[in-house]
Amino acid sequence: MTIQWFPGHMTRAKRQIEEKLKLIDVVFELLDARIPQSSRNPMVDEITASKPRLVLLNKADLADPALTAEWSSYFRAKGLATHVIDANAGTGVKELASKAKELLQEKIQRQVDKGMKPRPVRALIVGIPNVGKSTLINRLAGRNIAITGDRPGVTKGQQWIRFGGELELLDTPGILWPKFDDPIAGFRLAATGAIKEEVLHIDEVACFVLKVLVENYGSVLKDRYGLEGLPAELPDMQAAIDVLESIGKRRGCIVSGGHVDFEKAATLLLRDLRSGKLGRMTLESPDNA
Ligand code: GDP
Repeated sequence: MTIQWFPGHMTRAKRQIEEKLKLIDVVFELLDARIPQSSRNPMVDEITASKPRLVLLNKADLADPALTAEWSSYFRAKGLATHVIDANAGTGVKELASKAKELLQEKIQRQVDKGMKPRPVRALIVGIPNVGKSTLINRLAGRNIAITGDRPGVTKGQQWIRFGGELELLDTPGILWPKFDDPIAGFRLAATGAIKEEVLHIDEVACFVLKVLVENYGSVLKDRYGLEGLPAELPDMQAAIDVLESIGKRRGCIVSGGHVDFEKAATLLLRDLRSGKLGRMTLESPDNA
């Protein structure tokens, strides 16, 4: 879903989530495990403050497992319950009900003490575009339902999706805006496909990605594209352009005159990264969060 975020839209998105919060017990904050910090909405703490929250590191199948473990510890140290999932394959999804119940333990116990039968936990998924909200909702629903953006009237016409007997999920997620004011976060979002390529130039995004990959996953890069003499880091933009040129040459991204077609090489690199062909990679670490 492509959304142009303007101040008016942000205010509306915030208000719509606040309306939905009245209906639920727990918030599932969905993040992209490859960029957990950059895929967080800057105001999510404030917006969801009234409800317990479970941070979900999604797309874990594409992320570096060691860094996913570090990020889980990072969020837990901030007092946020955290769980790792792959909404596409369903890994970790069936534990969501028990994880949500853990957060509401005291409330549920109070109901039990009063002789009441605890009702299913009601949850809302929130996150920026492209983190996998619809995929997770469909996974929990066990079928493909049309996920629409919010309609006027906010909570009207929304449905509950039942998952087992213990969890109910609102079928419309809370869509939040990504970070705008941090250029590095912008590159990370673009690298994973969360920001459209027209916004940031694809060659520049590819050069940013190369810098991260050379520093952290150099051997993978060497093997995949048969690169010789790759340095341990790329000190400047020109060094990144040189690597992109080598990839272009190795992969036959050539225009007439024998020059490298940088745009084609950049597209190829980003496609390989996003599809997981380069292996499981995370583009930011808690050390620089
Ligand atoms: P939304 O905008 O937050 O609703 O995101 P979508 O559910 O539309 O997902 C965006 C893209 O990410 C789609 O191409 C999904 O197939 C993909 N996706 C979602 N979850 C996962 C996951 O856990 N692993 C992988 N590999 N891809 C995922």
